[in-house]
Amino acid sequence: MTHSQPTCIFDVVIVGGGHAGAQAAVALRQEKFAGTIAIIAAEPELPYERPPLSKEYLSGDKNFERLLIRPAAFWAERAVDFLLGERVVTVDAEAKTVATEKGRIVGYGELIWATGGEPRRLTCDGHDLRGVHAIRTRADVDRLLAELPTAERIVVVGGGYIGLEAAAALIKFGKAVTLVETLDRVLARVAGEALSRFFEQEHQTRGVRLLLSSGVTCIEGDGAVTGVRLADGTLLPADIVIVGIGIVPAVEPLAAAGAATGNGVLVDAQCRTTLPHVFAIGDCAAHANAFAGGATIRLESVQNANDQAVVAARTIVGRPASYDAVPWFWSNQYDLKLQTVGVSSGFDTAVVRGDPGTRSFSIVYLRDGRVIAVDAVNAVKDYVQGRALVANGAFIDPADLADATRPLKELA
Ligand code: ADP
Repeated sequence: MTHSQPTCIFDVVIVGGGHAGAQAAVALRQEKFAGTIAIIAAEPELPYERPPLSKEYLSGDKNFERLLIRPAAFWAERAVDFLLGERVVTVDAEAKTVATEKGRIVGYGELIWATGGEPRRLTCDGHDLRGVHAIRTRADVDRLLAELPTAERIVVVGGGYIGLEAAAALIKFGKAVTLVETLDRVLARVAGEALSRFFEQEHQTRGVRLLLSSGVTCIEGDGAVTGVRLADGTLLPADIVIVGIGIVPAVEPLAAAGAATGNGVLVDAQCRTTLPHVFAIGDCAAHANAFAGGATIRLESVQNANDQAVVAARTIVGRPASYDAVPWFWSNQYDLKLQTVGVSSGFDTAVVRGDPGTRSFSIVYLRDGRVIAVDAVNAVKDYVQGRALVANGAFIDPADLADATRPLKELA
């Protein structure tokens, strides 16, 4: 891809204005980087927090201004320029330029790719009817909220964090909410069965109709959605459909420019892609993660976005850094705060601490005798103390872990 002459050049160009992109600019200035910085972002807003979109923003408990990662004045004071509402569509790694959909060509000294992902869409008939929504951007949620007052029946497709959080937020409005999940349990990608069963029961108790092992055949409607047809023939009448079935990393322009990609764009421990002067961070960056047994994974989390941003910034200013942060995540549903440290995939033993019936408990995951992750539900102590166990890969007898009267820190 060859671009014509750039209309402007920045020492660092950050593509993507989410948590990762914003934090990269913050970190560069914290590292006393004195060059010019621009953030090019497809969305029209200044960087804002994404996790509340499926939680407090959807439920109306937080307005948009409270979601801004930093106020406008912050960015002006630090001389971070924004090109908002501009989607980068091509990268020319030789000329060191990017081109936007609107035809703007921007030159860079270093490029930080922080584009996250696009929500995965259903591919069946009717997937693009009015009333079918994703929850990834402020605009997505605003469109959904605009339709909410006249909607009674909501079908949520996907039982991951997004789907479950949306169900929790919307049942509060008194809507009839049905959640459809392909697999035989919710949260299967990220948690063990005990946690899945606990959350399934919570949602059912609150009135969410849960359909597990259920595939969607098509979305029915004429212009606007009227229902969701399941593989077994059932028709779920629906005024709104929310699709939360994961993201597709937005790395097409980098792949076209020749960067090595897999599930995302491949980066090394300094968050460098295989293209010179091109870094990638956040949800789109596939990296070898020590807390996943060295496997190459993507992490979709604020922690990963922020910590990779710092690594890229330090590498750019010549301060050695490697990405080795302990992964952590959270989810709020109803009055439940789920906090996770570590990556549980590949566990061989799961130990439940405490009684899920009390709605305060945790699950410790081990592999080959070592603690690899902790899911803590309304159990902040286990989360905090479990962190050290995960960080050190502590060897602990599962029988000791199961004794909830013994603090995790005593077992280290
Ligand atoms: P998100 O971050 O959007 O919640 P996850 O990957 O954590 O994404 O969860 C998505 C969930 O959606 C998974 O549990 C997956 O099994 C489920 N899923 C994927 N495709 C479909 C589908 N077509 N119908 C119903 N559920 C689906």
